[in-house]
Amino acid sequence: MVVIKKLFAKSILNSRKEKTIFISIYTNAGKFSASSPTGKSTGKYEANPYRKSLEEDIESLIKFSDYFSDEIIESFSDLRRIEDIVDRHIGANSLFALESAILKALAKEKKKQIWQLIDLGIAKKKKKFPRLVGNCIGGGKHSEGKKSDFQEFLLIPKTNSVKNAFEINKKAKKEVSYSLKDKDKKFENKKNSEDAWETSLNEKEILDILKNLKIPLGIDIAASGFYTRKKYLYENPVLQRTKDEQFSYISNIIRNFRLLYIEDPFDEGDFESFAKLLKKFPGTLIVGDDLIVTNYKRLEKAIEMKSINALIVKPNQIGSLLEVAKVCELAKKKNIKIIFSHRSGETEEDIIADLAFGFQANFFKAGITGKERECKIKRLIEIQGKLK
Ligand code: PEP
Ligand code: MG
Repeated sequence: MVVIKKLFAKSILNSRKEKTIFISIYTNAGKFSASSPTGKSTGKYEANPYRKSLEEDIESLIKFSDYFSDEIIESFSDLRRIEDIVDRHIGANSLFALESAILKALAKEKKKQIWQLIDLGIAKKKKKFPRLVGNCIGGGKHSEGKKSDFQEFLLIPKTNSVKNAFEINKKAKKEVSYSLKDKDKKFENKKNSEDAWETSLNEKEILDILKNLKIPLGIDIAASGFYTRKKYLYENPVLQRTKDEQFSYISNIIRNFRLLYIEDPFDEGDFESFAKLLKKFPGTLIVGDDLIVTNYKRLEKAIEMKSINALIVKPNQIGSLLEVAKVCELAKKKNIKIIFSHRSGETEEDIIADLAFGFQANFFKAGITGKERECKIKRLIEIQGKLK
């Protein structure tokens, strides 16, 4: 069992040099720390990262520190007791960091790996490893200058060896830089928020390069980022698309580039267009990120409307790991594929790898390069190595 004796919270800088929360707990099993990431193309329906501000969350956490010492944590589900104490006093980023630190303490005390603490009856006996989804070229809100309107061009190697997938993606990303140099006179080897290449090429020119890699492709359109007054406003090239025109355009792209995966192709309120797309392309992963925001109720709605067959899980979109568990259980039950994902503003926290494996995610989206991304992939490789 774990007893929290003292808690300390402060702000640190994420990969985008923005402040984020860092929490340390002092327990009978030692000192454990964890931090939270930060999104930039955030969904409108995400939980607030902090109740009012990061600084006030830090104050509240320190104030509640004494209350935690009365609680004994013996299992994952005991996080409920912690949530009862901090309920309505802190935001989602703070809660996620706090619960992550507690799971680290619990794993240590029980001489287990963090992923082994997650036993929710959703996982099959033989555990599978998620396929890597790596962001190779970026645009949208994650990039600067002239860029693609779509946010992420993703490589999804078809292998469950995490190590092989990581190598394939790193090699492909390097190769892509040579093609970009060739095709984009403005290309300067610049990387964006997620360490993906920045290019002035538009989405079609980018896909023409990527299709030569012979690696299954995905795109995160992050369409809410450029949907205004019932129109999709493209900048590269400048043009507008109505809802119907966006539907036809996305359909053509899926078909022409044989996409395996498409994330947020429509606005975050448009469950209908997602459903129409899934009906047309049942073999493609139609992924909800801003549409679902790791929220149980929104997932229920998407299931009822048959809007998606895959969802992004970002624990700090909701904060509570008990809610994450509920979302994953429902997705598994309804055969909706689960993609655990990093955020664009990241720290060197790697617990997401344990969570992805523990919850038996089908995919793991954590970039390709950059220390904040690589540490997560390396942790997943470590878990796989230990199980061999
Ligand atoms: C995403 O949209 O999938 C993403 C990782 O972006 P952000 O973290 O900026 O919300
Ligand atoms: Mg997304």
